Amino acid sequence: MTGTSLPRIAIVIPCYNEEQALPISSKEMLALLDEMSQSGLIAPDSYIMCSNDGSKDRTWEVIEQLHQSDERIKGVSLAHNRGHQYALLAGLMAVMDHCDAAISIDADLQDDPRAMIEMVKKFRDGCEIVYGVRSSRQTDTWFKRTTAHGFYSFQNIMGLETIYDHADYRLMSNRALHLLSEYGESNLFLRGIIPQIGLRTDVVKYERNPRVAGESKYPLSKMLSFSIDGITSFSARPMRLIFLTGLTFLVIDILVAIYVLIAILSGTAIGGWASIMLSVWFLGSLTLISIGIVGEYIGKIFTEVKHRPRFAIAKEIW
Ligand code: UDP
Ligand code: MG
Repeated sequence: MTGTSLPRIAIVIPCYNEEQALPISSKEMLALLDEMSQSGLIAPDSYIMCSNDGSKDRTWEVIEQLHQSDERIKGVSLAHNRGHQYALLAGLMAVMDHCDAAISIDADLQDDPRAMIEMVKKFRDGCEIVYGVRSSRQTDTWFKRTTAHGFYSFQNIMGLETIYDHADYRLMSNRALHLLSEYGESNLFLRGIIPQIGLRTDVVKYERNPRVAGESKYPLSKMLSFSIDGITSFSARPMRLIFLTGLTFLVIDILVAIYVLIAILSGTAIGGWASIMLSVWFLGSLTLISIGIVGEYIGKIFTEVKHRPRFAIAKEIW
């Protein structure tokens, strides 16, 4: 830990159109920082880093105002909307050399900030990464809950290992942040990368609350593309599935060939229009799906080889 013996904590909040939620959540988190520093858990110069993800509303102005009233609120602003994962990474990289540990949390107070106390305690006991895990999702809508759980299971089947019911609410030590910074991939899926870092980890459970203000920026379409991104960034299993499907079809094909041969030899072979049409359509769609999966990977290769910068910071307040 730098300087004092108490750890300096940076809370990192990705913000996209959060002008309504941010004033409420930052106030609550400042109070929590006060509480933790008064009880001797963290250094008094611990702070909040808001990472504005190219918001279209007044989020950046709100961050500037909040900084005016309390210098412990700091900000970086991405030049345009890059998505939650990139905004989060931008925030984490901004604080990397200015804290002993960073805790990432959403702006909407859905993840109970009080779980940070437990996270910091585990960090002080020597954990380098502490995952916040939802103990229940009763306050999420039935639809959100079911689709989210469906995605976790689907990802696991497809060979992507993630921590169940952990979103991006977690504490990372300075060392873990530096190791994270070594991962140069353009297709960011932090929940897949961070378990690969290794180091000593632990889990803190908390209750998931409803959004404090504003609405979800994660509709089903974004969740779906996020999930597909995660799988194709971390696992080659979909390609293996194409291969296995191909093998299965080869076996079926041989059986069909035998059947046709028997039919021809016994003189019962009359043109079966329906079966031909069915197989043409079926195989056609299967081919397209397969090409689609291969295309996902080629798309990844395409973006990775470009080595584009993953975010561009336009403004900073310290
Ligand atoms: N977010 C972001 N960029 C985006 C979408 C969302 O930085 O393009 C932030 C958002 O401000 C919030 C967090 O990511 O702090 C999670 O978003 P949200 O609460 O809308 O998702 P949900 O909890 O509904 O899945
Ligand atoms: Mg939320």
